[in-house]
Amino acid sequence: MTTKFYYMPTRVVIGENCILNNSQLFKTLGKKALIVTGAMSAKKNGSENDVKKALQSQGIEYVIFDKVKSNPDIPCIYEGAEVAKIENVDFIVAIGGGSPMDAGKGIALLAAQDISEDELFSGKYTSAVLPMAFVPTTAGTGSEVTKYSILTNDKAKTKSSIASEVIFPTVAFLDAKYTNSLSLTTTINTAVDALSHAVEGMLSVKSSVVSDALATASIQMIMNCIPDFLEGVKTGSIEAIDKDARENLLQASMLGGMVIAQTGTTAVHAMGYSLTYFKHIDHGRANGLVLTEYLELVGKNKPELVNGIINIMGFKTLKELKEMLENLLGEKEKISHDEIQKFSNLAIQTGNIGNCIVKPTEEDLIDMYGMSFK
Ligand code: NAP
Ligand code: ZN
Repeated sequence: MTTKFYYMPTRVVIGENCILNNSQLFKTLGKKALIVTGAMSAKKNGSENDVKKALQSQGIEYVIFDKVKSNPDIPCIYEGAEVAKIENVDFIVAIGGGSPMDAGKGIALLAAQDISEDELFSGKYTSAVLPMAFVPTTAGTGSEVTKYSILTNDKAKTKSSIASEVIFPTVAFLDAKYTNSLSLTTTINTAVDALSHAVEGMLSVKSSVVSDALATASIQMIMNCIPDFLEGVKTGSIEAIDKDARENLLQASMLGGMVIAQTGTTAVHAMGYSLTYFKHIDHGRANGLVLTEYLELVGKNKPELVNGIINIMGFKTLKELKEMLENLLGEKEKISHDEIQKFSNLAIQTGNIGNCIVKPTEEDLIDMYGMSFK
């Protein structure tokens, strides 16, 4: 057996009002914070207010950087790091979906050490980084427990990852009430991202007994919410997704993050990046559109592995998963032959392909894109 690793140093705090009830944890991070968020949602769902109250209760000063857009780019993290340096903050509090959390990691790194843009994805960093407290408000990326900051890289025309154990957040607060305000579409897309993380973890050469156990739990918890999602799609209403479902989704997303922190992601994410970069398809949806086709490819070589995953989902065949995803994701975007060629050529060059238990060729990627959008 090849050597397997498990490392996840983030303290996780879960439960209603967990930020206010554990505000002393901020005190261990420093005297002044930079709160990193998107433009709107953290203000609306109460998370930013709770963080501010918790910081105030501990006598901690803060400044706010609320300029993070979805799929944050490289200039955004340099700008945030500049603010962190000018304001002389000790730590970062990132609130939001994967975008503010990933930006928060980049900012924490660049505020503590000088890294040029050319070296940003090189992995050549010292261990200097600002401590980070993260508050996820979508249930999908699991970024609160991963060592990745995924950024839009306009030079490479794709999304690129800063991947380093240095950027594991120090503490993550999971309070599902902040996710109540998510739309049905974002709820589904982000849950499909989490499902993809868990499944891809099981399809990775780096999977282990630990990551498989976490992935199994994550898949089961997400699948329990699928009937509510389908009901939502049918009625156009979010009401079927109740408090318990929100809590389960947030925790399943965290488990998925713990999985990919060990295993990385595979061809599914590699293919999804171009769909997001060039066609502006949401990250989770992009993964969901191509997931079944990669399982199909793996199944040709390792049928027992794929059958095992399908069974955890409560299905007997891949066709059932395909139907479920089609029902959840609705009408597919159109993709041209030229786009497929270009996206496949970009995907084959990503590091994600190295994680794949069955490594696709460029031809396989072309076929998978073609089948996914049929
Ligand atoms: P997101 O881009 O963070 O957020 C999507 C939208 O949802 C934004 O408009 C945001 O508004 C809104 N939103 C967030 N929380 C909300 C809430 N509670 N209620 C209502 N609206 C809310 O989406 P995401 O899917 O969570 O993150 C995607 C990013 O994560 C991608 O860049 C992807 O590559 C990355 N990712 C990272 C990892 C990792 O391990 N680091 C893993 C998977 C994906 P505001 O802008 O106003 O906040
Ligand atoms: Zn993802």
